[in-house]
Amino acid sequence: MSATQRIKVAVEAPQHAGLENTLDYLSEQPLSPGTLVRAPLGKRELLGVVWAGAPGDWPEGELKPLSAVLSELPPLDPAWQDLVTFASAYYQRGLGELAMSVLPPELHKLDAGQLALRLRKLHKAMAQPLDAAPDTPPPPSAEQAEVLAQLAATPLATPVLLHGVTGSGKTEVYLNAAARALEAGRQVLVLVPEINLTPQLEARFAARLAGRRIVSLHSGLTPAQRLRSWLAAHLGLADLVLGTRLAVFTPLPRLGLIVVDEEHDPSYKQQEGARYSARDLAVYRARLQGARVLLGSATPSLESWQRANEGRYQRLALPSRIGGALLPRVRLVDMNQQPKERGGAGLSPPLLAAIRERIARGEQSLVFLNRRGYAPVLHCADCGWKSGCPHCSAWRVFHKLDRTLRCHHCGFTERVPRACPDCGNLDIAPIGRGTERLEEQIGTLLAAGDGTLPRIARIDADSTRLKGSLEAQLGAVHAGEVDVLVGTQMVTKGHDFRRITLVAAVNPDSALFSSDFRAPERLFALLMQAAGRAGRSAEHAQGAEMWVQTWHPQHALYAALRRHDFAAFAASQLEEREAAGLPPFAHLAMLRADARQAEQAQAFLQAAAGLAATLPGAEAVSVYAPVPLPVARVANVERMQMLVESASRPALQRFLAAWVPALHALRRGGAHKVLRWAIDVDPLAI
Ligand code: ADP
Ligand code: ZN
Ligand code: ZN
Repeated sequence: MSATQRIKVAVEAPQHAGLENTLDYLSEQPLSPGTLVRAPLGKRELLGVVWAGAPGDWPEGELKPLSAVLSELPPLDPAWQDLVTFASAYYQRGLGELAMSVLPPELHKLDAGQLALRLRKLHKAMAQPLDAAPDTPPPPSAEQAEVLAQLAATPLATPVLLHGVTGSGKTEVYLNAAARALEAGRQVLVLVPEINLTPQLEARFAARLAGRRIVSLHSGLTPAQRLRSWLAAHLGLADLVLGTRLAVFTPLPRLGLIVVDEEHDPSYKQQEGARYSARDLAVYRARLQGARVLLGSATPSLESWQRANEGRYQRLALPSRIGGALLPRVRLVDMNQQPKERGGAGLSPPLLAAIRERIARGEQSLVFLNRRGYAPVLHCADCGWKSGCPHCSAWRVFHKLDRTLRCHHCGFTERVPRACPDCGNLDIAPIGRGTERLEEQIGTLLAAGDGTLPRIARIDADSTRLKGSLEAQLGAVHAGEVDVLVGTQMVTKGHDFRRITLVAAVNPDSALFSSDFRAPERLFALLMQAAGRAGRSAEHAQGAEMWVQTWHPQHALYAALRRHDFAAFAASQLEEREAAGLPPFAHLAMLRADARQAEQAQAFLQAAAGLAATLPGAEAVSVYAPVPLPVARVANVERMQMLVESASRPALQRFLAAWVPALHALRRGGAHKVLRWAIDVDPLAI
C-alpha cells in the first residue's frame, strides 16, 4: 500500500522560517493529532508528534514517509498540544524543539517494540494493589477551615493565591484540595521548586492519599524512572504527579488541580532553551483543562500579589502558625556597633552568645551565608595580585578543604599556589568569607573551655556533591546529632526541622543595593523562609529567634521583616515598581548575545535594535542600549544583553513575534559573528 496521507509532524528540527517548525511527512493511514511517531530527518530517525492543523504545500515527491507509528501509546491530548503551542509562541521558541525537549529523554530512544515492552511492564506493576489505609487528617484549624470553605466557593476559572506564613498548614490545604480532586476522578499535579524537597513531601502525600498512585518527576530520576512516571501520568494510571518545573508539561488527561508550592521561587523559571516559567504555565494550563490552580507561598511573587490586588486572583490567607506557635522574633545586629574583624563579616559576639545558649539547652542553630568555599578571593598584599580566573571576569574562590582555587562560573580549578604567582610573596591571604570558613570559625569560637567541641554540619553544593550525602546530613540534623548547621540558602528551603530555635543570616546586606530590581524581593523571601525553619515544633517555639547581621539596621526591608509584615513590604515594593515602570506594571524581554569579542555581541544587538525600529508595533516598545552581563566574560565568551520593555503584554508579544524571525534571518545573513543568541521573555534578572 502506498503512503499517501500528508501529515504535519513536530520534530526537533533546526529552527527555520518562523516558530512553527513542523515538517510534513507521508503516512499510509490517517493519524490523529498527538500520535507519537518516528520520522526520518537527514541521516537520523527522530521522535515526533503528529500536530493538528493543515500540512504545508511541499511537492509530494519531496516528502518522506514516516518510519514508524508508536500506536501502542494513546495520542497526547489536545490540551497538551495547546499548552506546548502556547509556550512556544509566548517564549519565542521553536514548536518542534520545545515539544521534543519536554518529552522524557528515554522516549526519544525507544522503537515501537521496546516501548510496547515498557508499557507491558508498567501495566503489570500498576496492577499491584496499593496499601489503602490512609492517615486520618488532623481536624483543620479555624483558619484552615475558613480557607477550605473559601476555596470551595471560588470559581474554578479564578486562580487562587494561598498566602500562609511558614508552618501555617498550607500543605494540609494542598492535601485536602488534592483529596477532593481525586474523589472527583481527576488527576493532580503538584509542583515544588527543589528536587531535595520532593521525598519529604512525597512521603506526606503518600501517607495521606494511600490507595492512590503517586509518581514523581524531576531531573534526579534515572531516565527509565522518568519515562515510567511520565507514561503512568499520560495513561491516566497515576493519580498524582509531584515534580519540579519540567513536570508542568506532563500529559494529564484528567487534570483537575495544579498546586504550585512556593510559587515565588526563582527555580520555576527555566534558564536555558525555552525560558518558560512553570508557575505561569501552570496558570495557563489550568484554564485550558478546566482545572483549579492553587499557588501557595509565605512570600508570594509580586506578580501574583499584584494580580490578587487587582482581583484577578483570589487571595486566601493563613496568617498564623498551627497550634498558636509564634513566628520567631527577629533580632537585628547592628554591625557598625560590633568590633571590626579581619577577613570580613563573621559572627558577632552577641550572636555567638545566643548560639552558645542554644547549645547549652540542647537546641539547634542554623547559620547561613550565601557563599560557598572558604573565601571568595585570595590576595597578595605586597603586589596586589588577586586570584582572578583567566577565562572569566570573576575571582576564583579559595576552597581550603582540597586547597584549590576554583572558578564558580567556568569550573577552572588549580591547586592554591604556595606563593604569590606575580611576586613570590609567601603571605597570600584570603579576603572575605564563605561557608567553609564560617564553619571553621564557629568551631573555634564555640569550643568550650573544657575541650568539648560543638557538633557542626555544613550543607552547601560542595558538601552535598556525593549522592546520598545531603540525606545523610539532614538525617543527622533531624536525629539531633548536630548543634549548629552551617550552609548556603540550600538549607533555608522547606525543610521541617523540629529542634532549630535560632536561625542567623550572617551577611545578607548586599542584596539591598543590587542593580537587580528583584533583589529586595528575593532577600525578603529568603529571610522569611529562613525564619520559617525556627521554632517549628510547639515544644521549641518559645524563644525561637531569627538573627540578621546588618550594617543597615534602619532599612525599610528589615523593619517589615521584624514585623513579619509581607503585605507592607509588598505594598512599598509595588509602589516603587510602579513609579519606575517595572514589572508587574511593565513587561520585559531580554535579548542576549554571546560572542568571542564584546564588540561582536554588541554589534549584533545594535543591528537587532535597528531592525526593531522598522517593525510594525515598534512604537509600543522601548529597546534599551546593550550592556554587558554582571559577569561579562565566562569561559572566554563575552556576554551582552539588551532589554525590551512595553507597558502592554500583548503589544510586547506582537512585537516579539515579528522581531524574533527577523533575528533568525539576521544571524543567518552571516554578517554577525555571534556564538549564540537567545530571547528571554519575562526574565527574572536584568
Ligand atoms: P506549611 O506548609 O504552611 O509550612 P504545614 O502544612 O507543613 O505548613 O504544617 C506545619 C505543621 O503543622 C506540620 O507538621 C503539620 O503536620 C501540622 N499541621 C498542619 N495542619 C494541622 C492541623 N489542622 N492540626 C494539627 N497539625 C497540623
Ligand atoms: Zn604578590
Ligand atoms: Zn572561570
